[in-house]
Amino acid sequence: MKKNRLHIIAALAATILTAVSAFAQETKEYPRQEPMRPGMTEYWTPQPRIVVPGAQATASAPSDAVVLFDGRDLSAWESAKDGSPALWTVHDGVFTVDKKAGDIRTKEAFGSFQLHIEWCIPPMDASFTSQSRGNSGVYLQEMYEIQVMDSYENETYVNGQAGSVYKQTPPLVNAMRAPGEWNVYDIIYTAPVFKEDGSYLYPPRVTVLHNGVLIQNNTEIQGTTEYIGLPRVRPHGDGKILLQSHGDPSPAISYRNVWLRRL
Ligand code: MG
Repeated sequence: MKKNRLHIIAALAATILTAVSAFAQETKEYPRQEPMRPGMTEYWTPQPRIVVPGAQATASAPSDAVVLFDGRDLSAWESAKDGSPALWTVHDGVFTVDKKAGDIRTKEAFGSFQLHIEWCIPPMDASFTSQSRGNSGVYLQEMYEIQVMDSYENETYVNGQAGSVYKQTPPLVNAMRAPGEWNVYDIIYTAPVFKEDGSYLYPPRVTVLHNGVLIQNNTEIQGTTEYIGLPRVRPHGDGKILLQSHGDPSPAISYRNVWLRRL
């Protein structure tokens, strides 16, 4: 009898000890993670070499392309907020960002693709500098931004200038045309493959030609292109092309001749 009681007391003590040590672990104080600030993921040197692009005839859509804008309307696009109609302004065969309307995205989702898109930054005075000069962006699968902005005689952090994988990889060179002229991106994108645990088996990759000049050469994309903090890996399937309506106060930029080939 006495022996039994001793067993019970020992078992109770062990249970209490386990509970106490679990509680101690839960309440243990670790040093806090330093909060990330935007500047922590921005660097300014070396500035990419300037390459003056050659004259380039615009390429209209090939026969197997999905035409996303042919100069007429934004029927292939929707508001990224809620899927309602895309309200950016269509005029003279181009469409212009309406900053009040927010980001727009394609209605269709895509895996790997070749994307052709042309964009033009209007001339503006010198008070608009760095990131506040014609900022927009082409998001691949709504996750990964290829930066669009005026990088003609306008320095900024290099992993945020035109043609960068935003906050990750600067362009190899700066092939920007002057404000008021049309720029062309030809983007070849390979979608990622995920492991069961949600990490990349094969990360996304991107090649970009800017005005016919190679600026990203099969670049590995490390994850989402965050303004604050490090890239994150978020599992996803096919995704849409999203165009950014950036909050900077400079005059809005325009796009034209947008088409895509599925790969
Ligand atoms: Mg941007």
